[in-house]
Amino acid sequence: MTVSPQNLRLDQNRIPSLPDPALASLKIGVLALQGAFLEHANMLRRLGAQPVEVRLPQDLVDLDGLIIPGGESTTIGKLATQYNLLEPLRQFVDSHKAVWGTCAGMIFLAHDIGATGSGGHIVPPRLAVMDIKVDRNAFGRQVDSFEADLPLTFANETPFRAVFIRAPLIEQTGPQVEVLARLDDGRIVAARQENMLVTAFHPELGDDVRFHQYFLEMIKQNREKQNREPAAS
Ligand code: GLN
Repeated sequence: MTVSPQNLRLDQNRIPSLPDPALASLKIGVLALQGAFLEHANMLRRLGAQPVEVRLPQDLVDLDGLIIPGGESTTIGKLATQYNLLEPLRQFVDSHKAVWGTCAGMIFLAHDIGATGSGGHIVPPRLAVMDIKVDRNAFGRQVDSFEADLPLTFANETPFRAVFIRAPLIEQTGPQVEVLARLDDGRIVAARQENMLVTAFHPELGDDVRFHQYFLEMIKQNREKQNREPAAS
């Protein structure tokens, strides 16, 4: 059975007073080449999961999921190439482990980022595994950062206060992709395709834990599925 956002709902925006014991055994990698990896690791720790900094291929062994943080997609792509991480990361995604890309991490996962991205930047090396088309610097230099309240498809009516920093946008989604959040004008800023989650903004900056909880739920459901169908794993 495919885990779909319809059966994954989260109604609690703050850290629960009692951590979920099932999370303590989850090892979640955070790609730590550049960018906001410490903030993601802190958020995971606060929720009761174990963050693991990933810099080399062997760091991926035994992880239950992986976060690719925001930062600078060209730098992340270059360093991932230099550390021979591109192929192991692709295999990680292919093995159906959960992966979440925020901002530059979303660019790193996107199949299509246009010929040069807006602003004429070179196309950085990336995984290109998720069926989305992304505009790398959709808001241009004049709007470097902003915040917006986003209604979430998978949670209660309290909107998510999202921080956008030189943010990309999802311009097109393939048939397997489910949209999780849009700006007021309808532009897509969060989506999921099976084991892949992407957000154009930075949920690790702020107090609302719902995206991190959503990602941890994806991993828990994955694990339960593997326990039910060991032969298929
Ligand atoms: N637009 C930036 C890039 O191309 C990403 C910005 C971010 O991750 N905050 O890398």
